[in-house]
Amino acid sequence: MATFSDRCWSDLLAALRSDHPELFRPWFARLTPTEMQHGVITVRAETPAHHQYLTQHCQAAFSAAAQKVTGRLLTVSFAAPPEVPAPAIDSVPTFELEGDSLRLNKDYTFDNFVTGPCNRLAHAACVAVGQNPGQTYNPLFIHGSVGLGKTHLLQATCQAILEAHPDARIQYLSCETFTNHFIEAIEKGALNQFRYRYRHVDVLVIDDIQFLATVERSREEFFHTFNTLFQAQRQIILSADEAPAGIPSLEDRLVSRFSWGLVARIDPPCLETRMAILRKKSRLRCLELPEEVNRFIASTVAGNTRELEGALTKVAAYSQQYGSAITLALAQEALADHVAPAVRPVGITEIMKLATEQFAVRMTDLQGKRRNRSVAFPRQVCMYLARQLTPLSLDEIGGYFGRRDHTTVLHAIQTIQARRDQDPELDRTLEGLIQTLRRAVA
Ligand code: ADP
Ligand code: MG
Repeated sequence: MATFSDRCWSDLLAALRSDHPELFRPWFARLTPTEMQHGVITVRAETPAHHQYLTQHCQAAFSAAAQKVTGRLLTVSFAAPPEVPAPAIDSVPTFELEGDSLRLNKDYTFDNFVTGPCNRLAHAACVAVGQNPGQTYNPLFIHGSVGLGKTHLLQATCQAILEAHPDARIQYLSCETFTNHFIEAIEKGALNQFRYRYRHVDVLVIDDIQFLATVERSREEFFHTFNTLFQAQRQIILSADEAPAGIPSLEDRLVSRFSWGLVARIDPPCLETRMAILRKKSRLRCLELPEEVNRFIASTVAGNTRELEGALTKVAAYSQQYGSAITLALAQEALADHVAPAVRPVGITEIMKLATEQFAVRMTDLQGKRRNRSVAFPRQVCMYLARQLTPLSLDEIGGYFGRRDHTTVLHAIQTIQARRDQDPELDRTLEGLIQTLRRAVA
């Protein structure tokens, strides 16, 4: 039996996506050919619904894409999924969910994770949980900003658990998937099955939990899932872009539960760690990366690890394109855009600090609940400036000022804007503050 190479298959999917975007579905990425015989590539569908969709709509498009990328006269045929035994739960309606199986990136292992001062605690905690799920740190909460390796660590933990306990029932999912499953379950009247599914696992891993904050009922559901699992001493691992207390509108009862276990932060990597990461990534990709080029990339791209990887990819692409080795000159050319210093966004604390000086109030007044005019006005100004100068959402802004909700923040912004429009002196004051803050980060 001949197989269709991975490379050809991904080219085929790419051709399909660009030629027939209307047919393409996200789950196509999970399809793989099972065999190729007599010019027929067989692809097994994951679910009956997928099978139906593929056979009814996609046959011609897949075949055309296969011919396009190979230059050979191939056809694609779709096989039905294997029969799945009915779930052993009585009288529970069945329904299909996207993303049933555990899908982990094979590269996201502990071996491939570089540790440094920025992530040592988070890494050690994940390793410990990987060895003894449910027994060391429970729940484990990893937080840090985007691209710093949260997903990598979470998946590495899952893989370590599976290695030691191949039968472990692990649910690894994004917060969005949890919420979508929940909504789907409600619509299909399959809440029991949903609960069974999430409350009978050994390990529940939810990535990017900050998004839970947005849907009230799924938050409630999560809370109960959490309690059930926790009481049964099942391992819970969560990640977010902020510490629990910093996630606006995450209820206090959830926040306090997250703090029962271990909360570990990942900071941006320092230069040494960035260089170690580049060394690791270039080895994984079999790239020859001279030390001086490594240092150049690591010091030029000071953002998160994902950007660092992106820079490496770009340099590798240049070297391939020019058919030359990776040299400093080549890297400098490839990363010419990066060299201009990135403008750092204004931080909320900088705004608050400036306001304390300008209006002679204390930081705690701004963060507190008091409503008298002497603090309410500076607080509103801060919210206004935060909206103008930071990428934070209304809810996020409210979180910094006594956990006020987005309607309060919106009201504050409108109030200040209206006054600014009428009061030239306030207009000048605000403009002055904005200039000061912009200068501080330039
Ligand atoms: P996050 O989930 O925090 O946004 P990811 O886990 O997706 O970040 O990481 C982004 C990319 O950076 C991934 O390709 C990941 O493998 C890589 N990465 C991040 N931190 C490290 C590290 N310490 N060692 C090796 N690779 C890392
Ligand atoms: Mg992530």
